[in-house]
Parts: sequence; structure tokens; C-alpha cells
Amino acid sequence: MKLPNVYADGHFGLSFELFPPKTEAGEKALYAHVDKLAALSPSFITCTYGAGGSTQTKTLDILKQVKQNTKLPVASHLTCVGATRDDLRKYLTEAQAEGIDYIVALRGDPPKGETEFKPVENGFSYANELVSFIKDEFPSFGIAVAGYPEKHQEAPNMEDDLANLKRKVDCGADSIVTQLFYCNEDFFRFRDRCQDLGITQPIVPGLLPVTNLAQIKRITSMCAAKLPTGFIEELGKNDDADWQTKVGIDFATRQVQELIDQGVPGLHFYVLNKSEATLQVATQVSPPLSTLATT
Ligand code: FAD
Repeated sequence: MKLPNVYADGHFGLSFELFPPKTEAGEKALYAHVDKLAALSPSFITCTYGAGGSTQTKTLDILKQVKQNTKLPVASHLTCVGATRDDLRKYLTEAQAEGIDYIVALRGDPPKGETEFKPVENGFSYANELVSFIKDEFPSFGIAVAGYPEKHQEAPNMEDDLANLKRKVDCGADSIVTQLFYCNEDFFRFRDRCQDLGITQPIVPGLLPVTNLAQIKRITSMCAAKLPTGFIEELGKNDDADWQTKVGIDFATRQVQELIDQGVPGLHFYVLNKSEATLQVATQVSPPLSTLATT
């Protein structure tokens, strides 16, 4: 299915995001989790590229195996970090040959220790340039881009950030996947402002069910997403892993339920290479996500 059709005609697009594991054991465990997630009938599965210093070459290997195991469409994330046009062309050629269906086109973060993104010579400064490049040279790929309900941390204000998002869709992106967020009001406000700007592409909430307070504090501090105070207090009432998982899953269930009730076109879960939390949320909401995903 083409990426725009994943969300067309009332079809609910469910997707899961993986990252390349660092060890063979991690990779084996990942495929077992993916098999369980595949039971929810997702529309596609994605894998990050170079995020948090992870190896870039692994992304295609993981996706090739996931596609072979599940027969589902797969999407490679791709960033402009340290890459010339030739490097990107080489990667996209290989991705095409390996049967990758979609690209999540990103600028990427500055390398560790640096505060500013610096393009390499003959590379790209912003994701919209990568979108145009893919559209021109690899038109068969569906393209998703990132959106930020709470504003991208480098953007001076929401107006500029939304203008950038509009530029990305005008360059040819088919859909928008958001940064993780825990306040649905931020998402709804963002969605309304996108609509006001004439953005018609599907805007898909990116969600990470919390299972560990320390971990989520670390993740949200890196991407500047806020955690509601009441939620932090509830998670922090007990150091016990089972308690934090339960509080996190209950919160995610309520969050997902409201998003579904408000008619989002799909959901993208940052599953962190696990399946349990997402599966629990998926079965606790009404209708269950597996039912939604097959309608
Ligand atoms: P851009 O859209 O290029 O925006 C970057 C900043 O520049 C924004 O502040 C924007 O407002 C501003 N801007 C854009 N265009 C202009 C312009 N013409 N003039 C002035 N300012 C401009 N990172 C990874 O390394 N690997 C991954 O696999 C990965 N996957 C991700 C998946 C999702 C769904 C999301 C939400 C993020 C992901 N990231 C990943 C993180 C992402 O790379 C960072 O958030 C990065 O800092 C911005 O990428 P972008 O594509 O949004 O950049």
C-alpha cells in the first residue's frame, strides 16, 4: 500500500518504531517482540537511523529481516547528518533494492558534544531539502516527516516551526509523525494550527507508553517534551518497576483513548524494541487497536 493510502478512506494507520539493537541477543529478542506486535495488524514498521549514535548500516539489515518475517511494509528513517548528496543517494539506492517501502526523512540532531547542526559540503541543512531530493530521485518511496506539537527545540517560535513543517509537506511529504508528547491538548492545538496553514497530510501522534520514570525523564529531557506534573508524581510514588509500568500503561491507555475518540488518522508507537506495554494499551482501548487497524 502507498503511504498516503495507509491513512485514506477512514483506514487507521498503526505503525511501530524500532531502533537497531547493539547486540545479537538484542536483535533476536527484537524479532520476537516484532512478531507479537505484528498480531495487531500494523500498516508498517519503521527503524531509526543513527539516533543516539546507533550504527546506520544496521537499519537496513533490521528492516530487511522484519519485512521477511512479517511481510509488512517497512520504513527506514534517514538523516542528513554527515552525509553528502552522494552518500544519501547510495543509501536510498540500497534501500530501494532491499524493498524498503517508505522513508522517514529527517535532518537529524547535531553530533554528541555539538550544539548546532552543521551541514557537510554538498549535503543538506534541513529535512525539506532531503524530502525534495527523495521526491526527485526516488519518487517510488512514500515519505513521512517529523512534526513537533510542543515546537522543535531549536525553533525560535511555533510560527516558524509550523512554516518549516508546511515547507516539508509542500516539498512532497505524504504524512507527518509527531514527536512524543503526553499532553493531548498540545497535539490538538498543533493539529488545528496545521489545518489553518492548509496542511492536509495525515498528522499521526507519536506515543511512548512509559514504563520507567528515570528512563522517560531522560528521554523527554533530550527532546524537550513535557511530562505532566501529576503523572510524574504518580509514577514517583513507588520505585517498584511493576508500579511504574502500571501507572504508565494506564496513562497511555487514557491518552490513546482520547486520541482515537478525537479521530486521529493513526498512531505511531515508539516501542523501544519491546512489545508488552504497547500490546497492553492496544487491548485496553475501545475498540482495540487491532480492530481499528483492520478497518
Ligand atoms: P527539520 O525539519 O529540518 O527542522 C530542524 C530545525 O530547523 C527546526 O527547528 C526547524 O523549525 C528549523 N528549520 C527548518 N527549516 C528551516 C529553514 N529553512 N530556515 C530556518 N530554520 C529552519 N533522529 C535521528 O538521528 N534518527 C532518527 O531515526 C530519528 N527519527 C525521528 C523520528 C521522529 C518521528 C521524530 C519526531 C524525530 C526523529 N529524530 C531522529 C530526531 C530528529 O532528527 C531531530 O528532532 C532533529 O533535531 C530535527 O529533525 P527534523 O527532520 O525535524 O528537522
